[in-house]
Amino acid sequence: MPLSAQTPNISWNVNPFIDGKYTSSLADDLVDNINPATESALCTFSQGNAEDLDVAVSVARRRFEEGKWSRLPPAARAEVLQNLADLIEEHKEELALFDTLEMGKPTRAAVFDAGVTAPNKLRTTAVHVMQLLGQSTPLFDQTVSFNMFEPRGVVGLITPWNFPTVNAITKLAPALAVGNSVVLKPSEIAPSSALRIAELALEAGIPEGVLNVVPGLGETVGAALALHPNVDLISFTGSTRTGRSVMELCAKSNGKPVILECGGKSPHIVFQDTVNLDYVATSVVQTAFANSGQVCVATTRLLVHRAVKDVLLEKIVELATHIRPADPLDEKTEFGPLASPAQRDRVDHYIQAGIADGARAVVMGAVQRSGGCYVAPTIFDEVDGSMPIVREEIFGPVLCVQGFDDDAEAIAMANDTPFGLVATAWTRDCGLARQVAHALRVGSVTVRTGGEEEAPSGIVLGREPQGHSGYGAELGVEGLKSFASLKLVTMMGA
Ligand code: NAD
Repeated sequence: MPLSAQTPNISWNVNPFIDGKYTSSLADDLVDNINPATESALCTFSQGNAEDLDVAVSVARRRFEEGKWSRLPPAARAEVLQNLADLIEEHKEELALFDTLEMGKPTRAAVFDAGVTAPNKLRTTAVHVMQLLGQSTPLFDQTVSFNMFEPRGVVGLITPWNFPTVNAITKLAPALAVGNSVVLKPSEIAPSSALRIAELALEAGIPEGVLNVVPGLGETVGAALALHPNVDLISFTGSTRTGRSVMELCAKSNGKPVILECGGKSPHIVFQDTVNLDYVATSVVQTAFANSGQVCVATTRLLVHRAVKDVLLEKIVELATHIRPADPLDEKTEFGPLASPAQRDRVDHYIQAGIADGARAVVMGAVQRSGGCYVAPTIFDEVDGSMPIVREEIFGPVLCVQGFDDDAEAIAMANDTPFGLVATAWTRDCGLARQVAHALRVGSVTVRTGGEEEAPSGIVLGREPQGHSGYGAELGVEGLKSFASLKLVTMMGA
């Protein structure tokens, strides 16, 4: 049955999921859960409050101390994560439907997220947790020191709305794998898939109260989580501004550590020796406009050598002009609406600002201002590095193009941003590639030679963002370490 036909059967239940069951929020005020494809309300739910959150933290702490999860051997936890991966795969359409209706992701992409990306992340984490090994060293004749990785305790997770199922799993997998108890606060724009994942986790074998989800607003539930004195770590993904505020709240409470994965303004750098410009054009369009540009690692700055700029830009314009935003429930749709009216208005504001600042719109995307948050791609040429459209994260389908004359200028332009998430460099020159990989101030560099190869979907190595993009390793074994506590044990005497 197509997903669109299943919509009327959904019974919405956006309530705190604590200690293995749904409870009622203790807050009175309600928020609308808006479908951005129509701008009508799917349901209402409570905005949540500090009391809801406090109940969840107390339960998480009690379950942590009981040790049914925290004291399991890693292999046993890994097995449960594998079970959860299977269940998520089995329920991929249900999870995808929540994400499509709540934030407008085309169902085809949403089913891929829930059916491939999320289970892959759980399965690789289940392998990585077995590789989380400490070091040991003999000191004197009868003395030895060794490391142990232990769970931190109660971990607070705060997630955005752009990949609701995957955002939740990206944090839940490492946090649970090392034995923590968790309180997850999903985005108020798309809370339902995280709640469903918590139900499936119970079925997979995660004991009651180890994975708790408290939906609600950022300023109510999110802030209370960051401020809670009985939470041992916060892992946050979202905007740089909110990330800074979360840091302040953590410092004000118990000084708990924070892992921040924030915004980006990532470059594609196309050097003069790049071949296969048709393929480069396709890749640029894909990475700038996938998920309607609402991707932290979207490469929304195109820096291109002037020798190939006109040819490449013509190809990109041709492809982008044909992208038509459409109903995300239609299985043929590749480009849906933006996630919310606020997001549509924000992107619209940046497009108008770009024009007012003198950038040349070589593709001008139409903005639908009511009855659906649809915004088609826009491409600005002749921008300069001081314009807000180049410096700030727009988080929508807007690509800025800048030309350069030599390699050093390209590197300087790429680094002329407060963000430092990812970068892609196109060249066949090995020496240049190595130089660029060192010189770029980002957490992850991809070098592409122009060969037509898909980007890997299951990244298994860690990375750490830089600058306004945050800090603390995520992904891979290094990412797991962020969620664990490193202990040194020294044993002396016979
Ligand atoms: P956001 O910062 O508005 O919200 C993120 C989360 O924080 C939400 O759950 C929100 O409710 C919560 N929140 C809001 N105010 C809070 C407060 N005062 N205290 C505690 N929590 C609060 O971001 P968004 O609009 O949901 O997501 C878009 C942003 O996320 C973009 O900047 C994007 O780059 C970033 N992002 C980054 C990555 C990454 O891996 N680096 C991945 C996805 C999204």
